[in-house]
Amino acid sequence: MDKISIIVPCFNEEKVLPLFYKEINMVIKHLEKVEFEIIFVDDGSRDRTLEIIKDYSSKNSKFRYISFSRNFGKEAAMYAGLKESIGDYVAIMDADLQDPPKLLIEMYDIVSNSDYDCVATRRVTRSGEPPIRSFFARLFYKLINKISKADIVDGARDFRLMTRQMADSVLSIQEYNRFSKGIFGWIGFKTKWLEYENIERAAGETKWSFWKLFLYSIEGIVAFSTFPLVLPFIFSFIFFVLFLVFLIWGLLISSGTFIVSSFVLISTCVILALLGVMSLYLSKTYTEIKNRPIYIIREESKRRGNKK
Ligand code: UDP
Ligand code: MG
Repeated sequence: MDKISIIVPCFNEEKVLPLFYKEINMVIKHLEKVEFEIIFVDDGSRDRTLEIIKDYSSKNSKFRYISFSRNFGKEAAMYAGLKESIGDYVAIMDADLQDPPKLLIEMYDIVSNSDYDCVATRRVTRSGEPPIRSFFARLFYKLINKISKADIVDGARDFRLMTRQMADSVLSIQEYNRFSKGIFGWIGFKTKWLEYENIERAAGETKWSFWKLFLYSIEGIVAFSTFPLVLPFIFSFIFFVLFLVFLIWGLLISSGTFIVSSFVLISTCVILALLGVMSLYLSKTYTEIKNRPIYIIREESKRRGNKK
């Protein structure tokens, strides 16, 4: 009998958890030939999330929970869930029903009856999202795929069902600055993409502000591309050419102070910006080298069973 582990990162999800519980139980009933293990990861919630998932775990032996000592972020929650999971297949799913649990039935059917290692989802519309946000999101995907080796799919959600082998490969990447969309692209394997229209969250609020998303995209670029580190060379070449032009110009015509000073200003700007790029990589190297744990568990339910 196959076992599916479902990992559900939860950060302040008290409003939506009862709805999720109902939906997921319907899926469990439908797939009666499959064993289930649902792992809620409470990512330092400040509402009644922990209380609720504790209640589910005590009522139903299929449900377990891990609770962090503080908010470590969704990436850390997914990693913790993967680490705790023992299923032959592992799914990652949001609590807010934006990842329709029913889709799991189709996903399991594909993964268990084909050569695919993973069934992942991507949304084809960005309806219900501010246009400016969609614009920057598209720009980000175009850019990162140009400058990185990892294949990062536009609109990909974290919602996916994968084999144990693939889950273990994700776990073998132990970097602190995690960017899952890149990690999945980087490890490879055969992935089937299911597409669906964007669904709005069933209750509660999104935890992503524009600023948070912006920082996350920088994280993605720094984690999966070193191209920005080459920029200083490119700019030094451009400035060298400009220098020659200005020099010849200055020699031919009497020098223009205005042109020279603006040139000094712009070159200072560029140098500072490039210094910023260096600092970005340095800071990431610094956090990696400290080798701190990705998350800290404050309490968890007892583990049932072991990996096969
Ligand atoms: N989440 C988390 N830690 C965080 C932020 C979010 O575990 O710091 C969880 C959240 O509870 C939800 C999922 O990650 O299950 C997706 O979050 P959200 O719905 O806020 O993001 P969106 O769907 O708007 O991108
Ligand atoms: Mg959501």
